[in-house]
Order: sequence, then structure tokens, then C-alpha cells
Amino acid sequence: MELENKLQQYFGYTSFRPGQREVIESLLVGEDVVAMLPTGTGKSICYQLPSLLSSGITLIVSPLLSLMEDQVQQLRSQGVKYVAAINSFLSKEERQHVFSKLDKYKMIYVSPEMLQSPYVQKQLAKVHISFFVVDEAHCISQWGHDFRPDYLRLGQVRSELGNPPCLAITATATEEVQQDISARLNMEKPRFLIYSVDRPSITYVVERCETTQEKMDRVVQLVECVQGPGMIYFSSRLWAQNVAAMLTSKGMGRVAYYHGGLSSEDRLLIQQQFMNGQLDVICCTSAFGMGINKSNIRYVLHFHYPIDMESYVQEIGRAARDGKQSVAILLFCEEDRRLNSLLLEGERSTDEQLTDMLNYVRSASSWTKEQERMLVERLNGNEVVWRGVRYQLEERGILQSEQVRPFSVDTLRSRIREVEEERIHRKRRKLDTFLRWIRTSSCRREELLLYFSEQLDDSPKNCCDNCGASVPMYKNRKEQEMVEKRKSWRDLLGDLFGQDVSVNEKTK
Ligand code: ADP
Repeated sequence: MELENKLQQYFGYTSFRPGQREVIESLLVGEDVVAMLPTGTGKSICYQLPSLLSSGITLIVSPLLSLMEDQVQQLRSQGVKYVAAINSFLSKEERQHVFSKLDKYKMIYVSPEMLQSPYVQKQLAKVHISFFVVDEAHCISQWGHDFRPDYLRLGQVRSELGNPPCLAITATATEEVQQDISARLNMEKPRFLIYSVDRPSITYVVERCETTQEKMDRVVQLVECVQGPGMIYFSSRLWAQNVAAMLTSKGMGRVAYYHGGLSSEDRLLIQQQFMNGQLDVICCTSAFGMGINKSNIRYVLHFHYPIDMESYVQEIGRAARDGKQSVAILLFCEEDRRLNSLLLEGERSTDEQLTDMLNYVRSASSWTKEQERMLVERLNGNEVVWRGVRYQLEERGILQSEQVRPFSVDTLRSRIREVEEERIHRKRRKLDTFLRWIRTSSCRREELLLYFSEQLDDSPKNCCDNCGASVPMYKNRKEQEMVEKRKSWRDLLGDLFGQDVSVNEKTK
């Protein structure tokens, strides 16, 4: 009851959602926790409330800059003043300002890259860290679907900060990944609070199309007839852009596209329009989604399928946050298999790239951010390749605090190749597993849960296509819009005259 009062006092909610209380209680008694809570559950409160109830600073490692900024703004608007995000958005002066008053802060969000900085570590070591939180913790595991080398050293940073109680939280982690997370963060007898990834209000449907053209026709049909707002995922920026243009030209409502190639202003604008209900459909790449907290997304359509089950669960998890019936539709065409193989291959550096990268590093007398930026530019922005190489260089002590030590390009190149091959091999296996899920004739929910070592206890009514569910087609969009318009007039009149006009109409 006590905790509920605090929840109400700080966040205005009357009760906890499943998992929140358990995580909070464990942290408050100093336990290390690995928590898996489905998207939309409210993971942030799991560390924000303990932070507000304890002395000291809660350090939150988060991979996404925009997400950190959002959370900081939100907390400030709730009256929690001493929160800050330390990332590359912050100027040197602003950063110094935060550090000069560090002990006054309650919550500090930090990017994993920033946490590697010896200066940042030194400043943090001076204060009392009450909790060490790793958000999107699946990024820490090499077996995870979104492995970030920068996450690997978090265990070391944590021990340098005196091993404060640690929370690693994610929405998607297989058993193997959960174990890996706790090992890498040097957790002591952690509590594993694992909640089902199942989202009963989402119906799973996979449709087979013979050609890409057939797929495009089907997209038009679905956008026209399925209740929005909706998201359509693509694995290429160009496709997202082209299909958005096609839908617009066919008068399919308010459509926009979003991908990592847009300017940050455009991205922010589109994100806000979508959040504010000014868009019906968003055609996007995986760059859109993390941290999007829109409650009424009614469908998530995959024009291209992602490369593993974890990504799929994350992406469809953006639907139905309000708990209302929604649908995840995946359009599958044999031709897409080539695209996904190409994507995987794209993560492999060419021999020339690798030699060029290593020679570039070797010829540098010291290593600065500017050099790193120039190198990524030489790689046509392929940061994934560079991140892997940088990790190898750092692990071997070749790249250290802006210093470059001598090394043999040939030896290192073959070692990096081996690691790369291993990683791509693992990813291919995950892709094959996901393809099996696409092709399965068994219950999709059951199979999806099995992947996360879970059993399905209760099948919802609209489970999946293999259980007999189909895409809920609403009436013609125009009709739907008319209904919406009429409804809004009723609301308006109701507001003006202070009564429920629709009830009056019915009784007339
Ligand atoms: P996640 O990170 O799990 O996707 P968030 O932390 O962004 O989710 O929270 C999702 C939404 O749920 C937010 O709007 C948040 O304020 C809300 N929320 C969190 N906990 C509760 C609760 N106990 N009761 C009602 N709403 C909650």
C-alpha cells in the first residue's frame, strides 16, 4: 500500500502494472535484477520510483539519445528537477555544469559511449550511485539481436563505481540472453523477473504474396480497409519512401515516411505528427519505433520482414498499447529472402574496407572523435562495421584513451574476419528460425512464446491466422471518416450544450 501511495504521489497512477512492483521491491532491498517486461508495460517507472525513494543518484544507461531527452523532459514536467542526460547533444559547458553539481542529481541518463570516457567515470566515482540501470539490456549480449560493443564494458564500469545494485531491463531477451546479461554485468545472485512477451490483444497474420507487385496492391487494400492508425515497416529507406508516395497518390489519408536518412528536424516533426494523431499511416524503417509511446496504434504491417524474432516482437509490440484489439500483418514474398540475405552480408566489411580502416587507424598518432567521424564517412556511414572493428581494437589495447599503439594489420584483419563470420553465422541462424515461424502452420502465438521458452496457457479469441483469425477489415475508409466526422460534430455540440447529443439523437 505504501508503495502504491508513492506511485500515486509521484506519477498519479493508482496501481502497478504486472512486474513493476516486483522489480521496485527487489531494487529497494538492494538485489540485482534482470527484468523482462513486454513493451508498453511502463519499464521506466521500475527504476524512476526507486530512484525517487532513495538517496544518491540513479545512473541509467540508455542507447537512444532521443529517448533519453524525452524521459528527462517528462520527468521535469512532473516536477522532478534534478535529472539530466549526458550525451553528445550536451555542450562541454553544459556537461561541466551538470558535473559541478552532480551530487544534487537524482537521475542521470547516460549513453554507453559517454560512460566509456575516463573523465565521466572519474566524476561519477566521486558520488554515491544508488542504482545502476541498463535500459534495453539485450544490447549487452552478443547473442542479442541488437548487440552494441559499447555495452560490453558496462560490467567493468559498474565495478569501478562500487557495484551498486543493478537493474537490467528489456522487452525481449531469450533465456540465453538473460543469462548473458547477468554475467556481463557481474551480477550477484540476481533475481530474474521475467514476464510474458505475449500480447493477447494483437492478432498475428502472415499473408503470402507471389510478387512484390501483389504485395503493393495488398498494402493499398489493407491501408484502405483496416482501422488505423498504423505503421508499415520496410527494410529499405527507398521502399519506405516510395510506398508512402504511392499511398499518398492513391488518396490513402495522411501518410508520411520516416527513416534514419532524414534530418533530425524532419524526424522529430513526423514523430510528433504521428503522436498527435495528425497521420494515419507511417511508412518506416526500424529507425522508427523505440520509445514511441503511442497508445492507439491499431496495426503494424510488415512489407519486409525483420531478421529475427526479437526485432519482430519489438516492432509489433508498438501496437495495442491501450490493450484494444489490434493486428500484426506480415506480407511474405519469396523474393524478400534475397533482400534479407543482402542486408546480413552488408554487415560484413570487404577486405579493402578492413585494410583501409586498419591502415587509417595505424597511421594516426592519436585518436579523436573527429578522426572517428571521418572514418565512418569513408565507410559511407556504415557504423555497424566500424563499431565491431573498434571493439576489437580496444579489446586488444590498441586503441586506448585517444592513444593508438602499433599493431600488425594482417594479423588483426584475419582475427576480425573470424569474429565477423561467427557473428553473421549466428544472425543467419536466427533469420532461419524466423523464416520457419513465417512458414509454420501451427499456432503462431505458441511458437513465438516457445522461442522465449514460454508456454501458452490461454489462447485469445483472435489468436492468429493458423488458428482461424483473419485481418479485421473495416468498412470503406471514406465511410469510416464520415462516421468520425459526425462523431466529432456530436462531441462539439455536446461540449457546447453540456449534454450527450448522441444519446439525445438515439432517444428521439
Ligand atoms: P515501456 O518502456 O515499457 O515501453 P514506458 O515506460 O514508456 O513503457 O511506459 C508506457 C506508458 O505507460 C507511459 O505512458 C507510462 O506513463 C504508463 N504507465 C507506466 N506505469 C503505469 C501504471 N502503473 N499505470 C498506468 N500507466 C502506467
